Amino acid sequence: MTLPYLLLDIDGVLIPFPAADGSTPPTHVRHTVLPTGRHPDDPVPIWLDPSQGCLLTDLVTSGLVTPVWCTSWRKDATTIIGPLLGLPDFPYLDLPRPQITTSHPDGYLWKRDHVNDWLANAPAVWIDDDFTSLDHEWAAERTAKGTPTLLVQPDPYLGLQPEHLTKLTTWVSQLPVVRAV
Ligand SMILES: [Mg+2]
Repeated sequence: MTLPYLLLDIDGVLIPFPAADGSTPPTHVRHTVLPTGRHPDDPVPIWLDPSQGCLLTDLVTSGLVTPVWCTSWRKDATTIIGPLLGLPDFPYLDLPRPQITTSHPDGYLWKRDHVNDWLANAPAVWIDDDFTSLDHEWAAERTAKGTPTLLVQPDPYLGLQPEHLTKLTTWVSQLPVVRAV
């Protein structure tokens, strides 16, 4: 079996949603960034937890998974978010730009059709805060057909927690190993 992909979202995962009063977690350091296409007079505040940079660096350099960004930040994940977290460079999925007003236009995550085609038959662990029950069914079906698929879904107001990564590494370590013949 090939190395599983690690699909990594950003908003609601690495950048938790602000609380009702606008506050952000004390663990997260505020930055002001300028996403691609944004007017220079209109930068965006974000917040990132440096300790997650360390944990994720350990993971993506572990050889357990093949990391890829799966986020509406697209290329900016590699040029803005990754560097701010001190992560090594890894690719991003060039997600489509559907004209949608909800992240679940067909009852499931808008990214999924693209991800499904891109993954083909590769095993994957996908971290995103926005899965629906249909996404979990999709993952269960893939797994049942012999393509191990794990969805990890942080609470968007808390974001990624260390136990999510523990769950992920436990899952990966239990996958069948490729053995040379
Ligand atoms: Mg998200």
